[in-house]
Amino acid sequence: MHTSALVLFSGGQDSTTCLAQALHKYERVETVAFDYGQRHIVELEARLNVLRELKAHFPQWAHKLGDDHLLDLAVLGQVSETSLTRDVAFKMETSGLPNTFVPGRNLLFLTLAAALAYRRDLQVLVTGVCETDFSGYPDCRDDTIKAMQLALSLGMDKRFLIDTPLMWIDKASTWALARALGGQPLVELIVEHTHTCYLGDRVHRHAWGYGCGTCPACELRSRGFQRYAARLPEPMSKP
Ligand code: ZN
Repeated sequence: MHTSALVLFSGGQDSTTCLAQALHKYERVETVAFDYGQRHIVELEARLNVLRELKAHFPQWAHKLGDDHLLDLAVLGQVSETSLTRDVAFKMETSGLPNTFVPGRNLLFLTLAAALAYRRDLQVLVTGVCETDFSGYPDCRDDTIKAMQLALSLGMDKRFLIDTPLMWIDKASTWALARALGGQPLVELIVEHTHTCYLGDRVHRHAWGYGCGTCPACELRSRGFQRYAARLPEPMSKP
């Protein structure tokens, strides 16, 4: 029986939905993020705002939400030259991967998260990785995650479960999952406080939240929200 979890929580739509599901499922939940010189401090601010709002408006979850951890991973800047860590425009590489790709980044995240979970005596690692995402990061694939689950469990002699609630669902379904977990208040929290835009735009407000509206992350979030909204039942008409 799994009762405790560590959520890899970046402050975006996906990891916020994963955090809500973990708070729904488990009795004790902690959060972790990695600071590796992201161009936009807004991501780190967004996650603190989301945690504050969850604690303030979801009393059924607030008492389960424990420590938040921020691990310094500046070393990633020494092995990558990408648009997340340097001032380079976002683009797709000829490999078909976006130039934000840091090889093996998610493997490092999971390894450090497992070490932290070991020390904090947390049983489950929760991550919002997704195979249906546009980007096709090889270290977010289901096979990679299953291999990591085995390697971490063997290497730390502790049985870890890696929970990936978004692995097989699209962005519209991620919005629907948030609604199922926390109703319209959670959807509104995600719209208002999570951050996805690669350009760090917190000026332009859309129905789906803040962002430039044109970078790949904004396009994905916007398209998903539109498909989600189109599937919502019409409000009941008065008799
Ligand atoms: Zn954007």
